[in-house]
Amino acid sequence: MSPPSRDLLAAYDPETFRELGHQLVDQLSEYLARATGANDLPVLPWVPPSTNVERFPAQFPEEPSGDFLALMNRVLAGSNHLHHPRYVGHQVTAPLPLAALSDMVSALLNNGGAVYEMGPVSSAMERNVLRWMADLLGLPAEAGGVFTSGGSAGNLTALLAARQAKAGYDAWNGGAHAGPPLTVLVPESAHYCVSRATRIMGWGEGGVTPVPVDASFRLRPDALEGALMAARRAGRHPIAVVGSAGSTATGAFDPLEAVADFAQAHDLWFHVDGAHGASTALSPKYRAQLKGIERADSVVWDAHKMMLMPALVTAVLFRDGARSFDAFSQEASYLYHGDDPRPWSDIGLRTLECTKLMMALKVYVALSVLGTRAFGDYVTQTYDQARRFADRLEASGDFELAVRPDCNIVCFRHTPRGVAAEQLDALQARLRERVIQRGDFYLVQTRLPRGVFLRVTLINPLTRDEDLEALLEALRGVA
Ligand SMILES: *Cc1c(COP(=O)(O)O)cnc(C)c1O
Repeated sequence: MSPPSRDLLAAYDPETFRELGHQLVDQLSEYLARATGANDLPVLPWVPPSTNVERFPAQFPEEPSGDFLALMNRVLAGSNHLHHPRYVGHQVTAPLPLAALSDMVSALLNNGGAVYEMGPVSSAMERNVLRWMADLLGLPAEAGGVFTSGGSAGNLTALLAARQAKAGYDAWNGGAHAGPPLTVLVPESAHYCVSRATRIMGWGEGGVTPVPVDASFRLRPDALEGALMAARRAGRHPIAVVGSAGSTATGAFDPLEAVADFAQAHDLWFHVDGAHGASTALSPKYRAQLKGIERADSVVWDAHKMMLMPALVTAVLFRDGARSFDAFSQEASYLYHGDDPRPWSDIGLRTLECTKLMMALKVYVALSVLGTRAFGDYVTQTYDQARRFADRLEASGDFELAVRPDCNIVCFRHTPRGVAAEQLDALQARLRERVIQRGDFYLVQTRLPRGVFLRVTLINPLTRDEDLEALLEALRGVA
């Protein structure tokens, strides 16, 4: 047998790794200093997609020749800088550097396996971190769950388990048409992935029955009864009701206690989409906003949003941990062959993924090394800041606040004197385009019933009130 090629031996050489690793960490440290410091760096170095397609062609040499650090420099320079204090865009966090280092360990060990033996440490960490999260939410001792790749996959996982529990027939084996068509009651303000999940399950358009929201975009409990009747009239069997904590567009927290009462009265599965806002449980000041979540049958919680983790790490928690085996119940005897048909430690039995990252590692490391208080402080600080920013907007005279913020998402629009109402939508879109293309700030926009609004998520702990003041000045300047 021939030995491994020289090139491969070199690629695995520990000394080369040590040297490149040190240089990369130096490079990333300098990047972090620039991104977080003085604002000479554009937040998003905006170019059209075609430019980046040309900059990064798939022209690869046959012989090793690539300059790793130069290539990384180009990646850093061309990317959206989430650590920049003036990044106030989508709900994607400025990851903790410690969590990034943990991800490097995950990538090198590659121990995120579906079965215990392929991830002995990460499986145990996953179980224990999920238990810790369940306790924070006030779920009972038998609660449990899994980590999966994002809130979209998480909501699908929870609703698959809800279906097995409440459909009244075995839809997993018999198929979506083995019984009456199903539906879930979902607030109009919920994330689109809930509707996508029901369509993936084969329930079509009526798989979601919308529940109206109030002027603050919160689910109206008094509208639940009507939604239930409408679903039945449409020939659907309602199995679950969803509450958002908070909603994506405006960050609204639904009245979970009232939704829990309704679910209980009608024997529905109660699912909370807390992708963004379940982290509120970490904040002594704001955790009361989650009241009622402790009665949920399932909760989705993204640690890559308000727990400062790089993507992706989403907890799917079940009030009865055993329910988590119902979401995906097929057998794979080549992987799973113990006596216990439901070993918690073979996590792949309960996830969409087979192989995955060591998702729990970065969360476990950050909580162990940094302590828990920093996470609570982070939630409190960003929610406080959103309220101060809302006050500022209300007092401004030339900006309109869409709604008082429940969390760290704020929607508003510029309403300078002399601009006709019907031109306001186009104005917001133009302002955003100019500001992000200049690189001053990164923010997004959303369409609400009243029209197009600018939308900021104060998710970077390094954003200061002065940055938000500068944002208003920049928008006025561009207008
Ligand atoms: C972000 C978000 C999602 C989607 O989660 P991903 O992790 O981006 O897949 C779902 N629901 C809510 C309420 C969200 O805020």
